[in-house]
Amino acid sequence: MIDEKKFYAYLKRKHLKFTRTRREIYKFLVENPIHPTANAVYKAVKKEIPGISFATVYNVLNKFVEIGLIKELLIGKIKHFDGNAKPHLHLICKECGKIEDAEFPEYNEIIERIEKKGWTIMDARFNIYGICPMCSKKKKTP
Ligand code: ZN
Ligand code: MN
Repeated sequence: MIDEKKFYAYLKRKHLKFTRTRREIYKFLVENPIHPTANAVYKAVKKEIPGISFATVYNVLNKFVEIGLIKELLIGKIKHFDGNAKPHLHLICKECGKIEDAEFPEYNEIIERIEKKGWTIMDARFNIYGICPMCSKKKKTP
């Protein structure tokens, strides 16, 4: 569920109109923290808005990144999108490509300590690469 009022207010502050397309795209990202590619967002949103084009979805995603509503994540050479714009860690599986969010109070503490030094943090990225528990299990049981 997205906070409609907050979303509307955010768009307004950035001088953007509230549209159903923008709402559906943002809603999908927030409700599905799977860090989809633009194409995956397009496929999902097309179910709700059949007439939508890939270019529209792509442009909305990039606009959202530009205004700080969402984050983009470059994994390898592929761009993914994240509805969670707050600093958090990512665990990335080298086998299945899954990108998981990980929140640790220790990480927030690092961010806070840096801010105490007088820094205004605009972006923070911490990606941990490995093999997820599901893929590890599969490897062990042939
Ligand atoms: Zn995996
Ligand atoms: Mn994330």
